[in-house]
Order: sequence, then structure tokens, then C-alpha cells
Amino acid sequence: MIPAAFDYHAPTSVEEALRLLAESGDDVKVLAGGQSLLPVLKLRLAAPEVVVDLGRIDALRGVREDGEALVIGAMTPHHEVASDPLVQQHALLLREATRTVADPQVRHRGTFGGALAHADPAGDLLAPCLALDAEFVIAGQGGTRTVAAADFFQDYFTTAIDDGEILTEVRVPKHTGWRAHYEKFSRVAQQWSIVAIAVTLRSEGGTISEARVALTNMGTVPIRATAAEQALAGVAATPEAVAQAVAGIAEGTEPPSDLNGDADYRRHLATVLARRAVLAAAG
Ligand SMILES: Cc1cc2nc3c(=O)[nH]c(=O)nc-3n(C[C@H](O)[C@H](O)[C@H](O)COP(=O)(O)OP(=O)(O)OC[C@H]3O[C@@H](n4cnc5c(N)ncnc54)[C@H](O)[C@@H]3O)c2cc1C
Repeated sequence: MIPAAFDYHAPTSVEEALRLLAESGDDVKVLAGGQSLLPVLKLRLAAPEVVVDLGRIDALRGVREDGEALVIGAMTPHHEVASDPLVQQHALLLREATRTVADPQVRHRGTFGGALAHADPAGDLLAPCLALDAEFVIAGQGGTRTVAAADFFQDYFTTAIDDGEILTEVRVPKHTGWRAHYEKFSRVAQQWSIVAIAVTLRSEGGTISEARVALTNMGTVPIRATAAEQALAGVAATPEAVAQAVAGIAEGTEPPSDLNGDADYRRHLATVLARRAVLAAAG
């Protein structure tokens, strides 16, 4: 349970961090909250020669507004995202999902950007970012680039972040006043999602006018349920109508089979959870 020895650097700016990454070659790891990386190092599933800790870069932490976008720094801890009034006002779905991550200890150490860069398919922040059309700002030696959520999550634990790059912030289009719910299914409290459904929507007079829906742990990357979104538009927020609109939500998905449940069980769960999530979001 003791990691292999490594050189440790704690830069105070993004520029310094990028320079350290460039100088350290291939065998280097970025450290954020350490909630996923440290267990990997302790189990010696990875043994980098260099670790670059982003924890002292203040510019990477915090939530701010920039016109029509909410900007969340990569090093913002989960508990700050969950309790931020701007997030509550403009991206309620992120608050609802972040509140379900692990336990208070993990939520105080783990970071928004770390969870997204880690890209565990069972992670709870990926689907909400996809549903909200978030954009990921990635810095490298050549400058910064912005990647849409649909292109950011590429495969199992794989994102668009290349070697030598750092995720600096996530830009979330404001969904001001939209209602939201994250329906997570796990066997015990404070656990990863077996399946979860992220929903944010607008409704008027008991009718859903617009909805955004995405699925957690129903494949190697989060899945946007565009057919369900279209079917929900204009539908009365009643159990029967919503059940009908989301009935096909698991069609075409290839969820994993493991000790928590096989693929068919997960497809069934997704349908049940989607109905619950939409009805809860609609109030
Ligand atoms: C007991 C336990 C239960 C958990 N339960 C849940 C859960 O229910 N739901 C959930 O979603 N998550 C859960 N997590 C994971 C948690 O959300 C972690 O915070 C997250 O996975 C990793 O974030 P971190 O900041 O700790 O990143 P780290 O562990 O420091 O890093 C993770 C990976 O991302 C890379 N990385 C980190 N930041 C950047 C960056 N800015 N740019 C480029 N690469 C970067 C690192 O190099 C590393 O490969 C749990 C963790 C634990 C320990």
C-alpha cells in the first residue's frame, strides 16, 4: 500500500505545470484531489516517475459567470460545486449529481475536473455535463483548446486530454431556472452508480416544454438520450405519459455486465430510473 518513489512538484501556475509536464517526458501523472489516483499508485497499478500536483494553482479553483456560461475551475472540490449558489441557479443538475458523489470526505478532497478527467463510466458528473452541453477547456504547451462534451469522453477511462495537457475549466451553458434531478441506483449508500439518469427540464402548467437527458454507466462513455428528449417535449408530466416517452431509452445501449447486474438488468433499470428522474425533475 506504499506507492513507488516519485519526484513531486507543486507548481503555482498553469504555465509552470505545463512546463513541468513537458520536461518530465512520458512517465508523469497530474495529481488533483488524489481520490482516484492515490489508490492506483498505492496498489502500484501505476508507478510514474514524476507527479505534478495542481493543488496550489489557485486560478484553477472556483465558480464564476462569463456571459451565458458558468465556468467551473478544474480544481474546484465537489463540495464547493454542490454548495455554490451560481451552480444552483444556472446548472441545478450539476448540484443534484455532485451531491450523490461518495461521502463528505471524498467530496471535500475530490475535484470536479479530476472526476471528469478520470472518466470512470460509473462516475456521476459525466452524464450531467453531457446533458448540459458543457465544454472542456484543455491547456497545453501550444495554447488552449475547447472540446464539446460529446467529443471529450472517448472511451473507458479515456478523454480528449492528451499527454502534456491539463483540463483547466469546464464551461457550462446556463440553464437558468431549469428544474433537475439525478436518479442514482446503487446497492449501498455512498457508492458508485450501477446506473443513473441525469435530467434537467423546463415545464409550464404541468407540461414539459424542453428536456435534456443523459445516462450514467450504460456504456463505456455517458450517453445522451436524444430520442427520449424529443419524445418528452410537449408531454404532460404524468406517470403514464412520461413512462411512454422514455420506454425506449435503453435501446441500442451496451451496458456492462458485472457482479452488480447484467446488461439486461441495467437496461430495465435505466427505463425505471428515467421515469422516476423525469417525474422528480418535473416536480
Ligand atoms: C471511496 C470513494 C468513493 C467514490 N464514489 C464516487 C461516486 O459515487 N461517484 C463519483 O462520481 N465518483 C466517486 N469517487 C471518485 C471521486 O469523484 C474522485 O474525486 C474522482 O474520481 C477523481 O477526482 P480527483 O480530484 O480525486 O482526481 P485524482 O484522483 O487526483 O486524478 C484522477 C485522474 O485524473 C487525472 N487528472 C486529474 N485532474 C486533472 C486535470 N485537471 N487535467 C488533466 N488530468 C487530470 C489524474 O492524472 C488521474 O489520472 C469516489 C472515490 C472514492 C475514493
